[in-house]
Amino acid sequence: MPDAFDVVVIGAGPAGYPAAIRAAQNGLTVACIDAWKNRDGSNAFGGTCLNAGCIPSKALLESSELYLRANSEFAVHGIHVSGVELDLAAMQKRRAGIVHTMTGGVAALLKAAGATAIHGTARLRPGRLVEVTSADGAQSEIKARHVILASGSVPTELKALPFDHRFILDSWDALELASVPRKLIVIGAGVIGLELGSVWRRLGAEVMVLEALEKFLAIADQQLALEAMRHFKKQGLDIRLGAKVTGALVAEGSVSVQYQDGSGAHSLSADQVIVAVGRRPYSADLFSADSGVGLDARGFIQVDEQCRTGAENVWAVGDCVRGPMLAHKGKEEGIAVADRIAGRYAHVNYEVIPSVIYTAPEIAWVGKTEEQLKADGISYKSGVFPFAASGRARAMQAAAGFAKILAASDTDTILGVHIIGPLAGELIAEATLAMEFQASAEDLQRTIHAHPTLAEALHEAALAVDRRAIDNINR
Ligand code: FAD
Ligand code: NAD
Repeated sequence: MPDAFDVVVIGAGPAGYPAAIRAAQNGLTVACIDAWKNRDGSNAFGGTCLNAGCIPSKALLESSELYLRANSEFAVHGIHVSGVELDLAAMQKRRAGIVHTMTGGVAALLKAAGATAIHGTARLRPGRLVEVTSADGAQSEIKARHVILASGSVPTELKALPFDHRFILDSWDALELASVPRKLIVIGAGVIGLELGSVWRRLGAEVMVLEALEKFLAIADQQLALEAMRHFKKQGLDIRLGAKVTGALVAEGSVSVQYQDGSGAHSLSADQVIVAVGRRPYSADLFSADSGVGLDARGFIQVDEQCRTGAENVWAVGDCVRGPMLAHKGKEEGIAVADRIAGRYAHVNYEVIPSVIYTAPEIAWVGKTEEQLKADGISYKSGVFPFAASGRARAMQAAAGFAKILAASDTDTILGVHIIGPLAGELIAEATLAMEFQASAEDLQRTIHAHPTLAEALHEAALAVDRRAIDNINR
């Protein structure tokens, strides 16, 4: 292995590996070093997202939804099945297989791009010297012209409930359970709490979700959040808002959790608890104190708008820097930095980053919520189309939810799109593209959408902005 590279990327998650690939595409010599260790001791590229986040969670969401539908929905279609049985071991094997294939894919992509991929731990010293301790224990030192830090994030622990990985679980533990808990407490009704709570609820667990805030899905548009809450309650997720956890006790194979809400002190017991109260940036022993890289008060690596740290030619991207902790945000930052290093133009539009929660119904949005527009004093028009009026959604037996478009009163520019319903995560791509191109509601109105598709909901919501919807009564 050479001892000098144009670019050294530390971390091969969704922020790091695309940066390495793009830097190699730009004709630069690249090393990408990643420390990920699976619980069986094996190494893998792909970071949190591929190994313990986005991909395994979506595999289980898909399987658990099919199990639920086989049990509860097939009969509506006139399909009678009997003896539907859960084989959790097979479900988990499928999940692990997908992860294995995808992480192997990252290694193959890095290789094909000509990047040197190294399993090991890296530490930055002044002058862009990178110390590497390889997975086999070998030590080496690499000199880099540029360094990209992409060290990611880890789950936040609660003082009252430190992870023991048996009864008090982090999100990775919760993806790899070998049996369905009879009773499960989820702390935090955020994205992970709702996605993993849904998985285990669908597979038969009694799930109680304790959320500290009084408001459900406070970051989302509240019309959408209210609709979501209604569906989750119907599905049997016992969501308790304004619940401040004060303590927990593990004894005799179960956990009891104490919490306080407006009505007083309560105690709940369950087989296991998933703590999903957010993630914190990870940078333990990533750089020496004299490297010139700084952290902000919350532990994020300090960067400017273009992801430059305080040290010359040292950049940082992904979950370890400010902004939403989303794989696609990290990917765009990684690519942009690799282009900037090569002297090419790059930009990341932080105003137009889609968010998706992969529950059923799915939830997705991009841009401003109604609450944000009101707070900013921006005058807007709103158009809503319910999936109940969509032929395709009806055919799919998935007619819950709606699509909502918010457009500026004066210019008609689309300011925000909020969808709860079937494949909302796919539908939001059209809205994201429209907003990236600063489209107006009229632009969407004049765009032909195939019939019958779910995407017609966006077309009709755009028409409803001007009370000109065709397939729904304009109010
Ligand atoms: P990471 O993916 O955390 O990768 C960082 C890598 O750097 C790791 O492999 C780590 O081992 C390595 N590293 C750290 N320090 C060093 C060092 N000193 N030397 C070498 N290597 C080092 N996001 C979405 O957009 N969509 C989803 O559906 C989604 N689902 C999720 C589900 C779950 C359960 C979880 C936990 C997260 C989910 N996320 C999702 C969030 C997503 O996983 C993160 O936003 C994303 O992984 C961040 O990418 P990253 O490259 O910044 O960091
Ligand atoms: P989150 O920030 O989405 O939600 C955490 C929730 O826990 C919040 O509602 C918060 O109010 C609550 N909370 C905080 N402290 C609490 C306490 N002491 N008691 C009770 N509730 C408390 O965080 P997360 O769900 O852990 O997810 C972590 C990150 O991973 C997020 O940034 C998210 O974007 C990302 N992620 C994304 C996806 C996706 O894109 N589909 C899926 C999973 C995770």
